[in-house]
Amino acid sequence: MKQTIIRAGMETLYFSGAHHLMRPLFGGVGCILTFHHVRPARADAFQPNRLLEVTPTFFEALLRRLKRKRIDVISLDEMHRRFITGEFGRRFVCLTFDDGYKDVLQWAYPLLKKYEMPFAMFIATSFPDRLGELWWLALEAVIAQNSRIGLPIHGEQRFFDCARSAEKRELYDALYAYLRSMKSDTEVRRTVRDLCACYKIDIASLCRDLCMDWEEIGRMAEDSLCTIGAHTVNHPMLRKVADDATVRAEMEQSRAVLHAALGRRPEHLAYPVGDPTSAGAREFRIAAELGFKTAVTTRPGVLFKAHRDHLTALPRLSVNGHFQRQRYMKVLMSGAGSAVWNGFRRVNAA
Ligand SMILES: [Zn+2]
Repeated sequence: MKQTIIRAGMETLYFSGAHHLMRPLFGGVGCILTFHHVRPARADAFQPNRLLEVTPTFFEALLRRLKRKRIDVISLDEMHRRFITGEFGRRFVCLTFDDGYKDVLQWAYPLLKKYEMPFAMFIATSFPDRLGELWWLALEAVIAQNSRIGLPIHGEQRFFDCARSAEKRELYDALYAYLRSMKSDTEVRRTVRDLCACYKIDIASLCRDLCMDWEEIGRMAEDSLCTIGAHTVNHPMLRKVADDATVRAEMEQSRAVLHAALGRRPEHLAYPVGDPTSAGAREFRIAAELGFKTAVTTRPGVLFKAHRDHLTALPRLSVNGHFQRQRYMKVLMSGAGSAVWNGFRRVNAA
């Protein structure tokens, strides 16, 4: 339902030409795009995390268009330099990939090299250490492999039928929303860990199968096109972590581990999950205190000169797998979509 509304909104902005009119006002100086997976589409009916992946064909068409449009595709360091010096020429785009999935190495990286486009990868260090918990994918696996699931909700044991694909989708959305409504990140993990134990899902195998190992990350990091950024150690929703010391340690330790493993100290950070329930004023302050040049959220938005004063609370535009059309990208990057979303407010860093 929500997707239908968003799609209708994007189509309206595109076909009315409103995005053209809005770009000078809401297009800002540039934008940062967020990707997770780049891989060929699969046929499965139950793919609740499909929004996190785009196909190599779509990805290449986007790179080709960026090249043709003569939009500057720049590194995070260059973006930072432009903010500090105030030298904004042509509009720019930064390409960022979160979590460090193998499919990015396999499918996106060859294309990035072919078009000579700089990009950044944000690595949660527990993933290549093979200790990470990809809990949103573990939840998907539990539901995919079972036809009925029992789970204590608010202390009461409940059962859910999920034999059919439609039931699986509905249950995933409900349980995902339930987990995201929890007050602490520890509670989310405990709940998913219990589910995995109960339904014999090996949560560690997700990390092994999907995430790059240190050797693969090292190979990419050697390329001058690639910037490696920090993404914490354990990928927690930082705002749901009670004490400041742990938040600080998550950021600081991931930077130290990446520095030790790759020989270069990361200067940029991405907050895990990155929406307002996962990263807020405290996180923005701590990232600045730790000396990160920039830190990015997943709050939707393009960049304005005024973001110079909020370099550890930068918005990004998530490239959503449900909307793989170049015309949606035009609307997104014109700033029209996020301007509507943000009520025409330019900076949202509180
Ligand atoms: Zn992430």
